[in-house]
Amino acid sequence: MKSFCIYCGNSKPEAHQICGSCFVIPETHADLIYSIIMCYSTDDPHLNFLSIGEIEALCEEIMKGNKMEVSPQVFEQAEEAYSAVRSLESPQLIHKLAKISSPIQMIIFALVLVGFIFGT
Ligand SMILES: [Zn+2]
Repeated sequence: MKSFCIYCGNSKPEAHQICGSCFVIPETHADLIYSIIMCYSTDDPHLNFLSIGEIEALCEEIMKGNKMEVSPQVFEQAEEAYSAVRSLESPQLIHKLAKISSPIQMIIFALVLVGFIFGT
């Protein structure tokens, strides 16, 4: 999975994480959706909203100081996918927590996930 920062156009580890180049975290709902759009996975091509070429073109625009623009359809698709993931999260979360044996690890894991889900 490749992710790109919607603020500076550099690559970063995860869509919702802090950018290592500009240290900005996507905080608003819209920015989070844009960050998801700026992800590209070669393993799961069905998860991609744009081709890698389109994402790279957007990165170039961001690097030039322009605002990234995507079609409303793409934004809507990403938003739907994001809410689907959110509604699916609960059973998976319980499943994941059941696998973690250390209570401290479990608390940290839960806090991180809660932060990700509700930290808008
Ligand atoms: Zn950045």
